[in-house]
Amino acid sequence: MAVTTPAADVSAIGAALRSPAATVSEADAEKLRLIEELTSDVDAAQDRVLSEILGRNAGAEYLTRCGLDAGDIARATFRAKVPVVSYDDLKPYIQRIADGDRSPVLSTHPITEFLTSSGTSAGELKLIPVAMDDSGRRHALHGLIGPVLNLYVPGLDKGKGLYFMFVKSETRTRGGLTAWTVLTSVYKSDRFKSMANAYTSPTAAILCSDAFQSMYAQMVCGLCQRHDVVRVGAVFGASLVRAIRFLQLNWGQLAADIEAGELSPRVDDPSVREAVSGILRRPDAELAEFIRAECSNGDFADIITRIWPNTKYVDAVVTGSMAQYIPTLQYYSGGLPIVSTSYASSECFFGINLRPMCDPSEVSYTIMPNMAYFEFLPVGEAADARSLVELAGVEIGREYEVVVTTYAGLSRYRVGDVLRVTGFHNAAPEFRFVRRQNVLLSVDTDKTDEAELQRAVERASSALLRPRGASVADFTSRVCTDRIPGHYVIYWELHKLLTEAAAGDTVDGETLGRCCLEVEEALNPVYRRNRVTDGSIGPLEIRVVRPGTFEVLMGVAVSRGTSIGQYKVPRCVTLPSMVELLDSRVVSSHFSPALPRWTLAP
Ligand code: AMP
Repeated sequence: MAVTTPAADVSAIGAALRSPAATVSEADAEKLRLIEELTSDVDAAQDRVLSEILGRNAGAEYLTRCGLDAGDIARATFRAKVPVVSYDDLKPYIQRIADGDRSPVLSTHPITEFLTSSGTSAGELKLIPVAMDDSGRRHALHGLIGPVLNLYVPGLDKGKGLYFMFVKSETRTRGGLTAWTVLTSVYKSDRFKSMANAYTSPTAAILCSDAFQSMYAQMVCGLCQRHDVVRVGAVFGASLVRAIRFLQLNWGQLAADIEAGELSPRVDDPSVREAVSGILRRPDAELAEFIRAECSNGDFADIITRIWPNTKYVDAVVTGSMAQYIPTLQYYSGGLPIVSTSYASSECFFGINLRPMCDPSEVSYTIMPNMAYFEFLPVGEAADARSLVELAGVEIGREYEVVVTTYAGLSRYRVGDVLRVTGFHNAAPEFRFVRRQNVLLSVDTDKTDEAELQRAVERASSALLRPRGASVADFTSRVCTDRIPGHYVIYWELHKLLTEAAAGDTVDGETLGRCCLEVEEALNPVYRRNRVTDGSIGPLEIRVVRPGTFEVLMGVAVSRGTSIGQYKVPRCVTLPSMVELLDSRVVSSHFSPALPRWTLAP
């Protein structure tokens, strides 16, 4: 039934949801009521979820080994007996399932597929097991986002979303199960295909694995339907910035195609061509001229509102490492709200943002207690089961690492995300995403930690510098997004191992270029995939700094209050004054001359 109830009458919706003046449909009201219900008695909801999870998993091998009996669904027993674990602890079990063991290893319910997380373990993608009913649970939670947005932004159902969506290549495990990213799994599902009309991108364009063709087709369709577009987005801020950059680089050809009513032969995937031909139906000289006029002077300020004038908000996650794209998106979007709707991972869909129009720096997510059993490890405390706090017990202002127990059989599993409690919606805590543990560098979905960067630098140094009588005396790094795609910058101070005469004056530029590639070769598969197949990370750069730079850096830290005894070289710098200092002492800069190797192996 359409638009009947004023939002203010959805009595159970909290103040934040009640205040906007929108009206809600019956279907939306039902979902909003569900949010209210779920957030009102968090502990009861969590109790129900844990009973359900244990009802199906207590008889599986893993929990039996932990000391649980089949049918033992008591929360107290679970909390007393099951340890807190990381991926590496569960990896042998997960590997057996991947290799074809169909016995109840982690869950008595069959594992139907794996999601490949962007987190890695020992240089391999993490494989996250999925049970048959998981996607329905995710879909149900995702379905709560729309009704919340409709409260704040009326008329969204009158138009379409221009969302840039991409699949990644998938593979099969030795045991024959599909392993793919969570988004690939969503975009290839029948559920998603049935919602295709909500988007300007044809499904064939989204499912095209060639990143250029996919982006080109999605952009051309977005341009042709520009007056229908009411929201512009991508899952993460980085992808949306990349899409706009793509427009900046390709508007000439896009306009030519629109003028001719014919797609460029650069898109040669037949299914994409066919799908686009249903949208790019005839020549449109007026639209082509408009695009040229808007894009040709190179000024892309407010480009989103100029090209898609009915856009009401920009939809892209800009929390966590994606916050680095907020200024660029603000520049492109002319003051539109930038909305981070949800917080999810391969392991679990955590929650949604119930105040979607808030400032990007203020975003908090309300964890939905029906998705998994959630516990929280206070930051700074030992990873001991006794330290874990339940969802209903977290305290405002404190930071916790989130630990999940899922239907698919991860029990007390550390996701690696640190969250801060910022408030409550009813009884449900709201969390700000603080950081991912150990992630030093991230441009897109890549997550590079300190140990990995250190290893990569050492590998390049020993393979290419040492034979030339040099080594890396010290290094630090940062992500540079001045150009899109962003890239990793590593600052190196070189040290001569031999006498000056033997080592020569400097290591030559070609060798340093090869060092960049060597570092890239040693980085994780997600980095290399993004670099090779999506082009969402640019060539790695090494900036050689003058001798003594790291001493100056230490001097600055000490002058700011760090004690010399405790000083550690930061392996990543973000503070603008530190970046400026490093850049002012750069003597030469070198880029990776080629793409690193990347092959898909689960
Ligand atoms: P993956 O396992 O590849 O799906 O990546 C999931 C991870 O991405 C999470 O554990 C977070 O570290 C990060 N992430 C997902 N959603 C958000 C969000 N809304 N804000 C910040 N980080 C996020």
